[in-house]
Amino acid sequence: MFDKVTRNASIYIFYILVSSILTAILNIIHSQLIHAEITTINFIMPTVAGCIFGVLLAEIKLLNRQLNSIATTDQLTQTFNRMQFDNFLEAEIDRVNRYGQPFTLIFMDIDHFKNVNDQYGHHTGDIVLSSIAQLIKSNNRTADIFARYGGEEFVILSPSSQLENGTQHAERLRKIIEQHHFNKLNNITCSFGVAEYNKDTKDSDSILIRADRALYRAKEGGRNRVEQEQKPVQ
Ligand code: GH3
Ligand code: MG
Ligand code: MG
Repeated sequence: MFDKVTRNASIYIFYILVSSILTAILNIIHSQLIHAEITTINFIMPTVAGCIFGVLLAEIKLLNRQLNSIATTDQLTQTFNRMQFDNFLEAEIDRVNRYGQPFTLIFMDIDHFKNVNDQYGHHTGDIVLSSIAQLIKSNNRTADIFARYGGEEFVILSPSSQLENGTQHAERLRKIIEQHHFNKLNNITCSFGVAEYNKDTKDSDSILIRADRALYRAKEGGRNRVEQEQKPVQ
């Protein structure tokens, strides 16, 4: 919070300073060109106008940031949204096709989440969703791309990772969530589906479909478990 205030204040200061200094310099150059004397009033007025212009520029900059955040981030969990994730996925597939290192994709779905809402209310459900997102975020690698893919479904893309690594990572997350105490709630568990994309994988949809299929098997198998999809036939 404090960081945000400081960052916003520095944006205002930056734009006001730059804009008023530029206006003052232009004013001086203009006065020289037309051989006009610079009085206090005809120096101060344009400089004040420069300050106002700086405030407007800072406002535009901050609005732009806000719009960008709304377009790419899920506001409840502060993770990437599905649209932004799809952009990353496309870029990662492109990178694998060029350079060869595979990546893994983990689909994760909270088990019986509807019961949490029914028992404790939608607001508590929201708190659980964002707590789980924070737990996962803090246990992912920095390079992992983590997004809320749908209601209570999340997805993790781990660059330079093979099926075995992805499965281990999912298993670690599964245990962390299982052991976490969500205040007065009963234990919450999640199911995971893992798939690998390598350069022999043909279409871009298939990794999502394969990870989702593995997740489905985890649900069918009793939930609170990790299932991995077989590597695509080469
Ligand atoms: P399963 O183990 O099969 O995944 O069961 P489930 O109850 O988790 O799955 P189901 O698809 O039946 O229900 C998902 C629930 O997630 C229903 C929906 O109200 C809830 N949900 C989706 N998005 C949100 C949200 O943003 N906040 C809250 N509180 N609940 C949400
Ligand atoms: Mg669920
Ligand atoms: Mg679901």
